[in-house]
Amino acid sequence: MHWSQCVLLSALLLWAGLPSQAYAKKSKKPQDQVHVVRRGETLHGIAERYQLSAAQLRKANHLRGDRIQVGQRLKLPPHSRPVWHRVDKGETLVRIARTYGLSVDQLRQFNQLSDDRILAGQRLRLCAPETTLTVQAPVPVQHPPKEPSPSPDTARAPPAADSTRNDLPETDYTTVQEGTETAPAAEEEDLPPLDYLVKKGESLVQIAQRFDLPPGLLRQLNNLKKDRLRPGQKLRLRPSPLDEGTHVVRPGETLTGIARSYRLSVDKLRELNDLEGSKILVGQKLRLRATARDVHIVERGDALWEIASAYGIAAEELKRLNDLDSEEIYPGQELKLSPSKAGTFALYKVEPGDNLSEIARLHQMSVPELRRLNKLKGAVIHPGTQLKVKPILGDTEAMQTAEVNWDSLRLSLKDLGEIESENGPYYQDRPRAPRQLHPGYFENPSYAPLQAYEQAQRLWQAFDGAVEQLPPLSSALRGWHFVLDPGHGGLDPGAVVQVVDGNGNKVYVVEDEYVYDITLRVYVLLRRHGAQAQLTLLSPNHLLRHSNPAAQTFVNEKNEIYNSRQFNESNTPQSWPRGGRGGNLNTRVHIAEQFFGRTPENRRVFLSFHADIDPQSPEAPLVLYYQGKKGRDPVSRNFARTLLPALGAGAHLRGQPLGVLRNNPAGVKVLLELRNLAYTDHGWALRFEQLRQRDAEKVIKGILEYTHLQALSSK
Ligand SMILES: [Zn+2]
Repeated sequence: MHWSQCVLLSALLLWAGLPSQAYAKKSKKPQDQVHVVRRGETLHGIAERYQLSAAQLRKANHLRGDRIQVGQRLKLPPHSRPVWHRVDKGETLVRIARTYGLSVDQLRQFNQLSDDRILAGQRLRLCAPETTLTVQAPVPVQHPPKEPSPSPDTARAPPAADSTRNDLPETDYTTVQEGTETAPAAEEEDLPPLDYLVKKGESLVQIAQRFDLPPGLLRQLNNLKKDRLRPGQKLRLRPSPLDEGTHVVRPGETLTGIARSYRLSVDKLRELNDLEGSKILVGQKLRLRATARDVHIVERGDALWEIASAYGIAAEELKRLNDLDSEEIYPGQELKLSPSKAGTFALYKVEPGDNLSEIARLHQMSVPELRRLNKLKGAVIHPGTQLKVKPILGDTEAMQTAEVNWDSLRLSLKDLGEIESENGPYYQDRPRAPRQLHPGYFENPSYAPLQAYEQAQRLWQAFDGAVEQLPPLSSALRGWHFVLDPGHGGLDPGAVVQVVDGNGNKVYVVEDEYVYDITLRVYVLLRRHGAQAQLTLLSPNHLLRHSNPAAQTFVNEKNEIYNSRQFNESNTPQSWPRGGRGGNLNTRVHIAEQFFGRTPENRRVFLSFHADIDPQSPEAPLVLYYQGKKGRDPVSRNFARTLLPALGAGAHLRGQPLGVLRNNPAGVKVLLELRNLAYTDHGWALRFEQLRQRDAEKVIKGILEYTHLQALSSK
């Protein structure tokens, strides 16, 4: 079929660009064609998608420039139609063909499909390939086996876990409205198109530069031995979600469905995961392929430096072994380890309440792998048993956290009235429940804000004194001042999600408690590197969480207070931290102002920690910097970029008009979404101290990298 036929067919249909896909309805008025702009789209991208020039699209919408906004409805000239369709969860080839007035054979032919199997998230051409475009519009990555995208004819699937939000649906940190105009579109910067057709005269290095990708990544993705490209060659620019090495089971999924979406046989999937029947649990992590012993399959959030460290290889050596010229790696990538280090394993001591599947997951292994390595027969393991495991990333001798005696920070101060608890330690006040009982569960403080503040201060002084006793790690951050902001607290718990433990029991995690724990860990490491630091918010009741067993999880206690006497002096319910619009998020900025005082601006850093639910966005980690009507904050953006490789595979950055960053006196100010609670796997990870420690370690690694570069450039 040729393009003219495409156009002819389309005249009968109404097209509207909806998030990530086009959909069609029978229309009486064929000229009614609209595209609704979604995040990440550009005018040029949309024009290309409909085979229009940017000028045509501007003309149809009386636009002068290229500026468009999310949610804006762009009129399309008559007969425009999209050239591709993104497969939504549950769609079949037959249904898509029918929607676009094509035959199944045509769809197969355009997309070189040998059968009718399609994958959620897959992009299907709606016309013969020769009429398709050189560059496809950048669209946010969809991870359809994990996250269904909204579909016009099915109800929006809920996020992976039950979630409750106390505040705004889209973000829990206020996005500012600037004047009467709508805030500009958030910009997802790091997502090049999936594929690119090489034009005449273009080199690999040029293309890499244009899309801001390391040339080594392109070589690896496309199995290129040489840099020579031919015009018309299809170049993969970023890995597809289907390349990942693991899948976390979502509600409603079946083994057969998962096998199909990854083009595996059910038997193969069973074998890889040691499954007998077809029973799988929501939140269970399935391995999608086996690899040689000397290969590490990169998971989301794995950073090259951590993998190197875990296996005792120098990062440069790991890069050399894998022909990489940067630290950038991606989920699903297979990294070759040096032969001598391939057999590296660590010992894990079984704790009461542990089970094989959680131990396996913690160490990025499958249960069969764990069994084989330890010659285990059944599922029963006994506390105290030492198991051979793959080294856990971020928890090895070479890491800084290992040099900090975290146990010494678990204070036992009689005058502070420590209360032993399965979920503690708690001071002064005992939680009424050992864990979050249901998503709406919370515990109100039995005291007023000022009293909470005084209690928190006493606890903090004791903690800080203990931190002072720890030996320094370096003096790299001397002169730097950090304000660390646990993004929630007080009356605002942030996101609350349900996760499933290794035994299939439901437990809930609370974002606020996670970010408070992370903030403390980052605080300790910053101070040990010589930095000055302060928190915006304190808890009167606990410090670091040594959550063991991991099933004992965070409780939503509404008793954290702002770290300033001044803001608690009125001692009214208004003093408790509150989020969202109408909240008192600005207090965080005032506290930062007070702390920074006369510190030079280029030595002031403000970090707000989060782990929000965002089912629309690619998975965390995500670093947000300020971008508003008056432009972006280049210093923070540069910082964010530097942080990405340290945060690991799949990390990305985005500009957004966030209130807490807008009037912030820091030179560097960013919001760190270290985890995304829309993903079952991230909810799971929050419960493990080892993984929280790893998250904090990554942040420090990125900060050290940034300050090192700053020091070099000022020389
Ligand atoms: Zn948050």
